[in-house]
Amino acid sequence: MATDGTRADIKSMMLEELKSFLDEHGEKSFRAAQIYQWMHEKTAASPDEMTNLPKSLREWIKRECRYVSLKPVQEYISRIDGTRKYLFELEDGNVIESVLMKYKHGNSVCISSQVGCRMGCRFCASTLDGLERNLTASEMLDQVYRIQSMTGERVSNVVVMGSGEPLDNYDNLLRFIHILTGEGGLHISQRNITVSTCGLVPQMRRLANEKLSITLALSLHAPSDEVRRTLMPVAKTYALPDVLDACRYYFEQTGRRVTFEYSLVSGVNDNLEEARALTGLLKDLHGHVNLIPVNPIRERNFTRSDRKEIEAFRHYLEKNGINVTIRREMGQDIDGACGQLRRSYIDKKKEID
Ligand code: SAH
Repeated sequence: MATDGTRADIKSMMLEELKSFLDEHGEKSFRAAQIYQWMHEKTAASPDEMTNLPKSLREWIKRECRYVSLKPVQEYISRIDGTRKYLFELEDGNVIESVLMKYKHGNSVCISSQVGCRMGCRFCASTLDGLERNLTASEMLDQVYRIQSMTGERVSNVVVMGSGEPLDNYDNLLRFIHILTGEGGLHISQRNITVSTCGLVPQMRRLANEKLSITLALSLHAPSDEVRRTLMPVAKTYALPDVLDACRYYFEQTGRRVTFEYSLVSGVNDNLEEARALTGLLKDLHGHVNLIPVNPIRERNFTRSDRKEIEAFRHYLEKNGINVTIRREMGQDIDGACGQLRRSYIDKKKEID
């Protein structure tokens, strides 16, 4: 479990762990249930809010434990659709970004799972400086908690699609899912959680074996290894047939259909030949394809396919029996591709310092 050397990260503990931890310190187990409820159901930003605990216990938590509570440093609100983007500062000074999107069916929060990323996808801003560190379960949870408490909006869906590769931070991700969906916390249904991966095959299989009801999204982005390798270095480690086998296995083990993300990059993966190959690949997988018009980033020279090409690509898939949507672009006026807000914030800060 995450500790910063000496102080235990109590927000990353499951209830049973918190009970034994408090027991070791001579506290009764009903106190663990109270603290757990304050942290995970009432989303308390500080132990000071835990008014039914004796003051001495609150002080002890503040002194002896690590109480993770993210500090919002910037908030951007879209004038178009109310999407909100947040930059949060962590205890060590790193910053991460999270997004709240409002849909008819509820509010969805997109969280980061790592500071930076080491997967190196060519069009992604999160990976430009490599991986800084993994987020703890508490740091993933608190993105949801802070957004829910600051906005007063109940969060019904969580997507792990922000910066980072969630399956590269497997144990913390699992802990995060169990606490977020378990009783005594926000108790969000596992069906309302989506985890997106670039395709780490062993971890996808391991996740399938957990038999959770969460949705797995695979960043596919090309129907052949040849093109995929030009966009995603991870494709050199795991070949497409193995990645798709892992998707099939995920479906068999969990009964949950996999979503395939496909970012359309002009002239790279957006012609009808590719749409045809994609249809062949996915025919027996019963998955859903989510087309994402690529968000160009300053550091790379990719451009987005134009509307006509995107529509033609979609039409081809649809005509051939593939379930497909084009990702609605939320908060376009405050947009920056995945990981760009954080970069521009860090750049500005460097200029000031
Ligand atoms: N590491 C996970 C989560 C990353 S972000 C993964 O690879 O799935 C979620 C999705 O956004 C991924 O499909 C990713 O490839 C895509 N993405 C990242 N930057 C993008 C950009 N600039 N334009 C379009 N899609 C992008």
